[in-house]
Amino acid sequence: MSGLIIVKYGEIGLKGGNRPAFEAALQRNLEWALRSIPGAQIKRERGRFAITVPDAARAVPLIARVFGVVGVSVVTSAPLELERICQAAAEVLHTGLAETQGKTFKVDARRANKQFPLTSPQLNSQIGGYLLEHVAAKVDVHQPDVTVFVEVRDEVAYVYSATVKGPGGLPLGVTSNGLLLISGGIDSPVAGWLAMRRGIALEAVHFHAAPYTSDRSRQKVLDLMEILAAYSGDIKVHMVELTQAQLTLRDKAPKPLLITLMRRIMFRVADHIARANSIPAIITGENVGQVASQTLQSMAAINSVTTLPIIRPLVTFDKSEIIALAKRIGTYEISIEPYEDCCTLFVPKHPVTHPTQVMVEEAEANLDIEGMVQYCLEHTEVVTATPNPTASLYRGGPVFFT
Ligand code: ATP
Ligand code: MG
Repeated sequence: MSGLIIVKYGEIGLKGGNRPAFEAALQRNLEWALRSIPGAQIKRERGRFAITVPDAARAVPLIARVFGVVGVSVVTSAPLELERICQAAAEVLHTGLAETQGKTFKVDARRANKQFPLTSPQLNSQIGGYLLEHVAAKVDVHQPDVTVFVEVRDEVAYVYSATVKGPGGLPLGVTSNGLLLISGGIDSPVAGWLAMRRGIALEAVHFHAAPYTSDRSRQKVLDLMEILAAYSGDIKVHMVELTQAQLTLRDKAPKPLLITLMRRIMFRVADHIARANSIPAIITGENVGQVASQTLQSMAAINSVTTLPIIRPLVTFDKSEIIALAKRIGTYEISIEPYEDCCTLFVPKHPVTHPTQVMVEEAEANLDIEGMVQYCLEHTEVVTATPNPTASLYRGGPVFFT
């Protein structure tokens, strides 16, 4: 089905002087999202994009996952004559009733072009009257099965009945980049996706404890990154060997503080990698109260080793909400594969839940922290995660809590 698709975006319209740059980024990202459909043509109109594609049904879910997109509608365009608009409305209503097995409709007409002789209310009643005569359906203005939207614009009228919700947010690439701390768990990939949704392009860092952690657990992390890359294009992943640091801490640090100290090393290493790559922020999947290292006191003690802002998109979510989103964006099935993470090695039975700055500094005074950080940096391998072409990704629809 060849067709015309209208893409609406929200917030980027509010960005004043940056608007052209935001729109250009969104256009590039739409072109990228449609790279598998040759012949797609993207035209910028006032406050939206009009896309002509040879295969609208295939294009809609691809467009509906682009960050910054608020809504995607397949439209019929009609010349600016009432009779032709009514005919297009009848066609759209027919299709809509068949798809929803519905019986009722309403018309929602808007006259953006003030030269057009009929006002919006007049259009509603004229088109509604035509549809009642020509289509076997009743009007229901409160809960219609199908709403026929009509937009009278400068050169044509657009008629459509359905809009697929996009993720909203900002076009990827407009807000610099961030360094995602990716584990193999459920949370961090979701945190990465939400950061991308605010326009942040990702680089990632993963800490492994080979040979205590397996090749399969390393592959799991790369599989997750390939899902995220399907939303953004290639992502650089820094794979850091944390083994030596973990063994040293196991042998020399107070047991209850192991996790706090290990995480302080992770954040120090992340800080170095971020600065070396001109990345201005760190992103994590941390969430208040989930585990001992995520009390507010633990977060404070861990956070204090870096002055970079730490973005925690999930900080206040419930686990069930994170899981729902993980399923929607296509990372959940990989996240629940049962491969070990370096954080679960050498875990103390009774970790401190309220570490203080004094406690951690005293413990670190006896350790060569800088040496451990340097060792990690020297045992880092950079790999590129490329987009997974077959993943089942977000196809549009609500992002949160439904
Ligand atoms: P997740 O589900 O993302 O693993 P979690 O609930 O298991 O999170 P933690 O293990 O305390 O929580 O990790 C908190 C955050 O620290 C993670 O969301 C991630 O950003 C980061 N992190 C944890 N382990 C690693 C790792 N091995 N490599 C890189 N970052 C990590
Ligand atoms: Mg984890």
